[in-house]
Amino acid sequence: MEQHPYRVVITDCDHGSIEEEKEEFGRVGAKLVLAQAQEESHLIQACREADGLLNQYALLTRRVLENLPKCKVISRYGVGVDSVDLKAATDLGIIVANVPDYCIDEVADQTVSMILALIRKTAFFDQKVKSGQWDFRLGIPINRTRGKTLGLIGCGKIGMEVSKRISSFGIKVIAFDPYIGKTPEVIELKDIDSVLKESDIISIHCPLNDSTRHLIGEREFTKMERKPLLVNTSRGAIVDEKALINALKQGHISGAGLDVLEKEPPDAQNPLLKMENVVLSPHIGFYSEESISELKRRTAKNVSEVLMGKWPSSVVNHEVMGKTRASLF
Ligand code: NAD
Repeated sequence: MEQHPYRVVITDCDHGSIEEEKEEFGRVGAKLVLAQAQEESHLIQACREADGLLNQYALLTRRVLENLPKCKVISRYGVGVDSVDLKAATDLGIIVANVPDYCIDEVADQTVSMILALIRKTAFFDQKVKSGQWDFRLGIPINRTRGKTLGLIGCGKIGMEVSKRISSFGIKVIAFDPYIGKTPEVIELKDIDSVLKESDIISIHCPLNDSTRHLIGEREFTKMERKPLLVNTSRGAIVDEKALINALKQGHISGAGLDVLEKEPPDAQNPLLKMENVVLSPHIGFYSEESISELKRRTAKNVSEVLMGKWPSSVVNHEVMGKTRASLF
């Protein structure tokens, strides 16, 4: 029988193939097991002998982690690590790693495609033509793209990529981001009210947390003097959806492009589903065949690096330094 020095368990995942993971662990001689477990007791039983875990949604609670004596590292498929009890992992010397940047290009492309679809009314005309109406006047007015101002709310990795793409359309970029000191020359940092006031398009790229929940609400919509287009490819709850629907109805904004909603999927009665100046997509910003393949490969690599005695490229719980179960160099 083949002997493996390490055992790695995928707690759960919703992608069809685990070829990338198999390849990575084959390279370092680790045995890979797919558990598809969700319940605490099933997780403990499936992961008890694991040296490392790959995790998607299954909750790795303190009780689960306390029953995994060999586990040295947990790598989460994606950015967020809310499925892992970070404090418990740190107390136990388990490194928690993630993959924060596998889909930057995809989300930036999604954002720009929504901006252009709204400006050029692509989805609107598509529906009209398919219903037998061949008449450009149905979409009047359309204004020129060049010369417009895009306001970014959050100017991190995705915001920067949106800015690079959009600049080539002759659109000026301004941004509100209280946590960055410097931006490339083409992006002018401003306070939030100035961004709301001066933008023809507003695009949201900050994370969802306690301070950004409903960051864009009734007050903010009334500050939008240019009746901008609003695009959100970040997280639905950053925008107060009731206030957004009112702003659309009252014409405070001229349209919206939304890859994310407060409730996903939306209720069938959600008024956004009926609005012709709203473009929707089902939270697909992250997705391309290539981004998913990269995500799987890098999630696995975080674990194999620890098994090989190295720090993974993206550690979430830095406080674990000095007390890791794995001896690392
Ligand atoms: P990032 O961490 O590189 O950038 C986020 C930026 O937001 C940072 O510069 C930060 O300073 C800024 N920020 C934080 N709080 C803010 C606030 N109150 N106001 C304004 N700016 C604030 O993250 P990223 O990789 O650019 O991703 C941005 C967001 O995109 C993620 O948080 C995630 O919610 C979303 N996302 C969506 C999809 C999708 O499928 N639609 C996929 C990946 C990421």
